[in-house]
Amino acid sequence: MIVCTRCGTPNQDKARRCERCGHKLQSSARPVAEPVKVWEQLEPLRSNVTPEKRAELLRMVEACLYSAALLIAAVVSAVLGTWTPLYAAIAVVAILVLVRRL
Ligand SMILES: [Zn+2]
Repeated sequence: MIVCTRCGTPNQDKARRCERCGHKLQSSARPVAEPVKVWEQLEPLRSNVTPEKRAELLRMVEACLYSAALLIAAVVSAVLGTWTPLYAAIAVVAILVLVRRL
């Protein structure tokens, strides 16, 4: 089926001219809006991760990194036999958490 570009009337595939207005039909012409439709279908997938969700995820990753830093400091402290590195790490992480408001 070919839709007339002038009046919008559907015509037979073999028709050379619009049966309603006589406008010349282009048999190989495809709807111009087709690539746009594909993007519209992809849009929900792309916008599935909202900026709020992303920010929350980043904060969780950040918190996990801080926890890992504390764990490493604890291990280092245990190996060295002194708790000074752990105290320093706790202080640094506490300040970071305060500043970043996690
Ligand atoms: Zn027409």
